[in-house]
Amino acid sequence: MADYKNILAAVDYTAESHQVLQRAKNVAEQSSAEITLLHVIEITPVIGEFETFSYVDLYTDQPEMIDRAERDLKCLAEDVEMTDAVFKVIPGVPKVEITSYAEEYDIDLIVVGSHGRHGISLILGSTANGVLHRAKCDVLAVRV
Ligand code: AMP
Repeated sequence: MADYKNILAAVDYTAESHQVLQRAKNVAEQSSAEITLLHVIEITPVIGEFETFSYVDLYTDQPEMIDRAERDLKCLAEDVEMTDAVFKVIPGVPKVEITSYAEEYDIDLIVVGSHGRHGISLILGSTANGVLHRAKCDVLAVRV
């Protein structure tokens, strides 16, 4: 297995998140890598005749949501006894934010679940599939 330095685990808070985190933790331990837990708060910009919301507007209007999501990330990390992780919550489209974050922060492995909220009937969920196609680094899809 490659020697990874910076691992990004994408967390959607489904029941399978523990499996994804556990695998990310194991790989991180094997390569002494840093690990970041990322959750993307899914937002859909509403572009209508009378109102237009931008991603930035939604982000600044909902700081409590970001705080709560960060606290939930920390709880999940505690569940799998993961220490020293970086916790990150970003609003946007999951596959876009996950791969953009990876590029910006020199992530060399992204760990996702094979399925989450969008993938029950697919071979690979839509986020997992999107990450696989967009990422410039290795992607580990944990079979859940
Ligand atoms: P999906 O392809 O949406 O069924 O989800 C597959 C995997 O993508 C999940 O197990 C997570 O690892 C990741 N994922 C999905 N949605 C998000 C999200 N909003 N934030 C972070 N990771 C996500």
